[in-house]
Amino acid sequence: MATVQTTYAGASRSSELLANLKRAGDTYLMYVGGEWIAASDGGTRDLINPANGQKIAAVSEGTAQDADRAIQAAHDAFYEGPWGDSLAQDRAKLLFRLAERIDENADELSRIETLNNGKPLRETQYDMADAANCFRYYAGLATKPSGQTFEVPAASQTMVVREPIGVCGQIIPWNYPLLMAAWKLAPALAAGNTCVLKPSELTPLTALRLATWIEELEFPKGVVNIVLGAGPIVGHALAASHLVDKIAFTGGTKTGRAIMQAAVGNLKKISLELGGKSPNIVFADADFDTAVDYALYGIFANAGQVCSAGSRLLVEESIAKKFVGAVVDRAKKIRVGDGFDPQTEMGPIISRAHEEKIESYIKTGLAEGATLECGGHRPEGLEEKGNFIEPTIFSHTKPGMKIVQEEIFGPVLVVQTFKDEKDAIRLANDTIYGLAGGVFTNDIAKAHRVIRKLRAGITWINTYHPTYNEAPWGGYKQSGIGRELGTYGFEAYTEVKQINVNLAVEPSGWFST
Ligand code: NAD
Repeated sequence: MATVQTTYAGASRSSELLANLKRAGDTYLMYVGGEWIAASDGGTRDLINPANGQKIAAVSEGTAQDADRAIQAAHDAFYEGPWGDSLAQDRAKLLFRLAERIDENADELSRIETLNNGKPLRETQYDMADAANCFRYYAGLATKPSGQTFEVPAASQTMVVREPIGVCGQIIPWNYPLLMAAWKLAPALAAGNTCVLKPSELTPLTALRLATWIEELEFPKGVVNIVLGAGPIVGHALAASHLVDKIAFTGGTKTGRAIMQAAVGNLKKISLELGGKSPNIVFADADFDTAVDYALYGIFANAGQVCSAGSRLLVEESIAKKFVGAVVDRAKKIRVGDGFDPQTEMGPIISRAHEEKIESYIKTGLAEGATLECGGHRPEGLEEKGNFIEPTIFSHTKPGMKIVQEEIFGPVLVVQTFKDEKDAIRLANDTIYGLAGGVFTNDIAKAHRVIRKLRAGITWINTYHPTYNEAPWGGYKQSGIGRELGTYGFEAYTEVKQINVNLAVEPSGWFST
């Protein structure tokens, strides 16, 4: 039984925390074309605190018409406004200032994030710092050289320059709300694009706070638009619009497929960061305590609601019993509770619907014959208070089981055992996903051999989860298309233009007439 947190101090009232967001009456507004607007049909959506089920606030629930208005604003700002011709150093200056605003207001922002998403304050504090650094990184990159020149077999100066793609539709999930907004906005703006960002309908609040600084810092109107609403309506409108030049999406693989189909009409550029079922592989010669520690961190950080979560623990047979026993012992002690409680180590599940989905996977695991080592229930004492699930571990699984193959996106770890290196690699690659993976061993050559065989875009040796703004992020197979972060993420928001300059200006003589 996980330890349960039932009391906490320090959570501010929502109205106080949201005092700096723009609203009309009781409804928080969207930021479109440099104006704060309500939904065109007056629609609103209640946001629910996942830790206690209470209403936080009502926000405008945008419509397809609102999406179109935002797209038009971004289009005008790029093609007719000053942004299309803006200097990289001016864009960098704005992004550096935006990073500073995030840092200066990190306490307020992290509290808003914990209120809305539920994750523990120490996690949201980390996310805010990371988001600021992301803006800073791309502010720096904006002014760094990005072109190339080529030696060609002619009297020609041949070069490429990188140019912005134009209007970018950006759709993000709820698990890292502000950080995902930063991953999308920072490279796109640094490269000179204009953006229409659609946060998850469940967690729009930190993006709305960000928009207040975008307004104060006088980003030109229409350069950044934050439009709220349901995925199949507002998100679909962004994906399908012929005025959107690029769509960048982070979310589930199924949604990614729908977005790709909707985007086909004008063959817009597309980046997809999708789901995963990532293997965390532990060899018998690994540092035992380190591997146990990261097995826990890999799956239970953010209550397993992490795309790259190490949700499959692959353990070498010879140590499996002892290793799984140690992981289970520690998992039972994880303190589950309200993210505002400083004692809390694992927060709630984002929504009741998502909690029910995770619970249905747990039932499936039992029906499939896997052994439930721990967890599997709502923690005692928190049954009626928001959405919580105990850290849950299944052992004695088989590769074909649904709980082994499908992304659960919650605090559910499935254990698989392997005989040798070859067996580990085979099992590791045996899903439709290819986002991430970790290997624990003290044999560095073996670690590299295994990593090179993993069909995954993000890998770790003797650690799990670290992510850096400087290094590319993205998946193989059905975990995505393209890369975010680092120079790769910047390039993904640029077109490559070839320029040929004739250095011998005379007629070609190709035709004799
Ligand atoms: P989701 O796919 O349900 O929603 C993501 C976003 O897409 C939301 O803003 C939603 O409103 C929108 N959306 C939903 N249907 C749409 C449609 N038909 N057209 C356009 N937009 C639509 O995902 P989620 O539940 O918010 O997030 C969890 C998923 O995100 C997990 O699968 C997780 O692995 C993935 N994720 C991936 C990464 C990564 O970097 N690869 C990072 C975080 C989360």
